[in-house]
Amino acid sequence: MNRTARVYVAGGDTLIGAALVERLRADGYRNLVGTPPDEPDLTAAWQVEDFFGEARPEYVFLAAGKSGGIRLNQTCPADLMLHNLLATAHVVDCAHRHGVTKLLYLASSCSYPKHAPQPLAVESLMTGPPEPTNTAYATAKLAGWQLCDAYRQQYGARFVTAIPANAFGPHDDFSPDGGHVIPALIRKAHEAKVRGEPALTVWGTGRPRREFIFARDVADACLFVMRHHEGPGPINLGGGAELSIAELARLVADVVGYRGRIGFDAARPDGMPLKTLDSGPLRALGWRPSVDFLAALAETYDWFLRHAAPVSHSPRLAGGLSATPGKPGAI
Ligand code: GDP
Repeated sequence: MNRTARVYVAGGDTLIGAALVERLRADGYRNLVGTPPDEPDLTAAWQVEDFFGEARPEYVFLAAGKSGGIRLNQTCPADLMLHNLLATAHVVDCAHRHGVTKLLYLASSCSYPKHAPQPLAVESLMTGPPEPTNTAYATAKLAGWQLCDAYRQQYGARFVTAIPANAFGPHDDFSPDGGHVIPALIRKAHEAKVRGEPALTVWGTGRPRREFIFARDVADACLFVMRHHEGPGPINLGGGAELSIAELARLVADVVGYRGRIGFDAARPDGMPLKTLDSGPLRALGWRPSVDFLAALAETYDWFLRHAAPVSHSPRLAGGLSATPGKPGAI
């Protein structure tokens, strides 16, 4: 992939997609196509077809498809699944028919079986059912991986799949009900601070553990994988920052400057008890994350303050759940 290649980041306005576009621009890739706001509606087959015919991308990063936190997965499983299935099918098929040189599909760590051995190795995929709160979304992401491998098998397409750990950073969905845990807690802690509230309530028991990766590191890993990874079967993109939700809530409160009490609402679901990735194969190829977790949290809070802080709202869950769920691509 040289710097004059035509590169398309599908889902360029999403958490990981935006980080990819920013990184590619910084690296001097001058032929990026379909960058926001010029991206087609990926759920409309004809728009994707027209776009590929006109823009003729040579490399595709497929970071599109709506996603969200545990609550959004419970309330909008149909919307999340359908959006991901449609967007992925349209992009993968057009990439094949329009002769894309290589495509990298971003799958999700939600797709691992709930009770697979930890850290999660790709050999565990499809050996058991995923966490019930996100079965629909997880199944769509598994289908995306399988679709890439099917095109590889049938047509020799160079379509590879990567699975990032729980990603966070600028451009995330910071809505309190729809977002993943880091952006949701950033908003909740910020608003509790501004309103002088004595306590911040964190969902679940606080005991589940997650591995997190900053979006900029995901972008870096994606470029690395595009250059150095080939073959069927996904590769995990771990960030190495593993902590419990209770520990995370404490760190978020510190970064935000919230000094109140942190409580837990055990009536809310915990989701997977533990989710950490075996990134041995990626490390063996020579990739390491480079962003310090606390610095990344602080940068994310800073972005939130500048772009998302003023209004607390959860439009995707307020009245009409199925209207526009989730932030596209916030894997
Ligand atoms: P998951 O990694 O797929 O389970 O997705 P999430 O990022 O939504 O949730 C991770 C964990 O954080 C779960 O155990 C949640 O119960 C917990 N959690 C605590 N507070 C919140 C919150 O305000 N929003 C979300 N999304 N999760 C929270």
